[in-house]
Amino acid sequence: MPEALVCGAGGFIGSHLVRRLKREGFWVRGVDLKFPEFSPTEADDFVQGDLREPDFCRLVVDRRFAEVYQLAADMGGAGFVFTGEHDADILHNSATINLNMLDACRRRRVKRIFYSSSACIYPAYNQEDPENPLCSEASAYPAAPDSEYGWEKLFSEHLYLAFAKNYGMEVRVARYHNIFGPEGTWKGGREKAPAALCRKIAEAPDGGEIEVWGDGQQTRSFLYIDECLEASLRLMRSDFPGPINVGSEEMIRINDLARLISRVGGKRIAIRNVPGPLGVRGRNSDNRLIREKLGWAPTQPLEKGIAYTYAWIAEQVAGDRGGKKPGG
Ligand code: NAD
Repeated sequence: MPEALVCGAGGFIGSHLVRRLKREGFWVRGVDLKFPEFSPTEADDFVQGDLREPDFCRLVVDRRFAEVYQLAADMGGAGFVFTGEHDADILHNSATINLNMLDACRRRRVKRIFYSSSACIYPAYNQEDPENPLCSEASAYPAAPDSEYGWEKLFSEHLYLAFAKNYGMEVRVARYHNIFGPEGTWKGGREKAPAALCRKIAEAPDGGEIEVWGDGQQTRSFLYIDECLEASLRLMRSDFPGPINVGSEEMIRINDLARLISRVGGKRIAIRNVPGPLGVRGRNSDNRLIREKLGWAPTQPLEKGIAYTYAWIAEQVAGDRGGKKPGG
């Protein structure tokens, strides 16, 4: 039976990845500071601990793993990444995890390691026009990410590729673009736009109003979790090291995303645009390279993923309300 290690297995993408690898017949070890929040882990072995500790990394990494996925990072949505309040932790914690993990994988002679980078590495100067953002892989340089989160991801991409070059390790680097789906963070300050909007709309009465950060004209694309996993596994098992975009090319304005979610939720909702942390004006995945290298690219319409996600978040909101009822 093939064996895999998933770091960040208590997080959104990691917990889904464990489930997917189990379905494929892998024996899976998951590692994280915390267990998954919304359903029990399906990992055969789940080790709770801190990957900022080099000894812990050496303990959990084993040469028997055919595939190692490094997804652990200190991260969140715009409300976490763009306020500047967490910059030191974001840079320090995530870089330390990656330095330790690569060192442990080299010592244990792990052959193949996957690293989840981000669209946040792309230069702000190419993302000022919401209609025409440039996010082809080669456009990453001259580097000018708009957040410390993006700078750490860019540094770690170099780190992984340098270990590949100097130590003969096989690395695979994906640049994820806004992954969403059920069992993602949906409240508390670290949630991303699709989850935050689903929550606001699920909480609002029919005919009510929600707040949307910025003028709502900023554009993004969002990739549903299942297609993110499909792309990640295809990249891992290909001959191409990356970096490669893993995202959707279906770009949408944030106000239109809110309208799409209201429609899916069957509610008439007014939008009030308010100042808030934003990020770049426009961002979209450019899937030419993934099509060329993997012969595959995501195709699922945004609306379909939103329907699954809204249904799940509406259930969480209802559950929360149930808990707050008098006597409940
Ligand atoms: P997440 O926050 O849900 O998962 C990350 C996990 O890492 C968390 O469970 C956290 O507890 C764990 N972690 C953090 N510090 C740790 C430590 N010191 N030791 C052990 N575990 C630690 O995030 P996610 O959305 O599942 O993202 C997974 C990866 O994909 C991250 O590297 C993220 O930067 C990257 N990424 C995600 C997106 C997205 O849209 N979700 C976009 C671009 C890149």
